[in-house]
Amino acid sequence: MNNKIYLSSPHMGGTEQKYVKEAFDQNWIAPLGPNVTGFETAIESYLGGENKVAALSSGTAAIHLGLILLGVSKGDEVICQSFTFSASANPIVYQGATPVFVDSEQETWNMCPKHLEEAIKDRIRKGKKPKAIIAVHLYGMPFNVDAILAIANTYEIPVLEDSAEALGSTYNGQKCGTFGSIGILSFNGNKIITTSGGGALVTKDNALKERAIFLATQARDNAPHYQHSNIGYNYRLSNICAGIGRGQMEVLDKHIELRREMNKFYTSLFSNQEGVSVFTEPTTDYFSNHWLSCITVTPETAGFTAEDIRLAMAEDNIECRPLWKPMHLQPIFKDAPYYGTNFAETLFENGLCLPSGSNLSDAERQRIRTALRPFV
Ligand SMILES: *Cc1c(COP(=O)(O)O)cnc(C)c1O
Repeated sequence: MNNKIYLSSPHMGGTEQKYVKEAFDQNWIAPLGPNVTGFETAIESYLGGENKVAALSSGTAAIHLGLILLGVSKGDEVICQSFTFSASANPIVYQGATPVFVDSEQETWNMCPKHLEEAIKDRIRKGKKPKAIIAVHLYGMPFNVDAILAIANTYEIPVLEDSAEALGSTYNGQKCGTFGSIGILSFNGNKIITTSGGGALVTKDNALKERAIFLATQARDNAPHYQHSNIGYNYRLSNICAGIGRGQMEVLDKHIELRREMNKFYTSLFSNQEGVSVFTEPTTDYFSNHWLSCITVTPETAGFTAEDIRLAMAEDNIECRPLWKPMHLQPIFKDAPYYGTNFAETLFENGLCLPSGSNLSDAERQRIRTALRPFV
C-alpha cells in the first residue's frame, strides 16, 4: 500500500525547533514566556491595523471566551452558521445559551444574509433578540462581510467572526479575523499553520484582550493569595506551543501560495469535466487561503457521485472527506431553530474535500491525478 496522502497535514517551515529549543534552554517550559508574546506580536503585525491578539489553547476556547466577553449567558440565543464544524456552535451551549442556525448562500457557502435577517426578525418577533452572530469563513473562503456586517449593525448585534480556517484570507484587502467585534483563529494540527494545538482571540480593544487573558488564566484577582471574583478557565497557550507558532508564522504566506496552487491544480484537472465544479472565489473582492480545496458534483451531469470519487481515492490511500454536515442536521442540535432552504444540505450531499496540503510532493500530485483519471 502507498503512503497515506492526507487532506491537510502539519507542514513545518524549519525554524520552529529553534524557538522550542530556546524555551528549553531558558527552562521556560512553564505556560507563559517570550514565545507567547513573540507569537502574539507576529500575528498582530500580520493582521495589521489596531488588532490585538491573545494566544489561547484552542480555537474552541477562543470562541467560548469570545461569547463570554460579548455577554452571552444562560437563556440567550446566538445565531450561528449551520454549515460549519461543531466547534463553532458548541461554546454557545457551554454558556447555557441556545443556537439558532442559519443556512448558507451559493456564492461563498457561508452565512446567507437573507436568511440571517429573516432569523433575526423572527427571533425578535418571538420575543428574544439574538445576543450575538457567529459567522464563519469556511474552507478559507471569506463570508460576504459587507452584507453580514450591515445587517448586524442595523439590529445592533455583535459578530463573532470564526476565522479558524481563514488565516491569511482577505475581503477587500482586509485580513479575515479582523472584521467582527471579536475574531478567532485556530492552530489545530490540520489548519493552515499549527502549534500542534492552539488558537487566538482577536480584538481591537486592548481591555478586551487583557480580559480574555485574565479569564484564560484562572481569573486570579490582584492579591498575594489566590482570590477569585470570577469563574476562570485554563485556556492560555503554552510557551512551547507558541514557539512552534513563531516558526510557522514565518512560512504562512508561502504556505498560502502553495495551497492556492493546489486549488489551481484541481481547477485545471476538472476543467473539461461537466458536472464537477471546484469551489473558488465569486469575485476579486474575495481572496481565499484555500485551506481545503473542495468540489461539488452534480451526478446527473457527471455520471458519478462525490462518494464514487472518495471511494476511488481511498483505494490508493488518498484521503478525501465529505463537506461539513450542517449543524441543524446533527442529532445534538436537532431541536434548535433553523432558517434556510437547505442549500447547505445539498452541499453536504454533493461535495467533497480533496487533499490540499502545502507539503504535497510532485509524486503525490501524480498519484492524485492518476486516481482521479476516471473522473476528469
Ligand atoms: C478548527 C475549527 C474550530 C476549532 O478550533 P480548535 O483549535 O480545533 O479548537 C472552530 N471553527 C472552525 C470552523 C474550525 O474549522
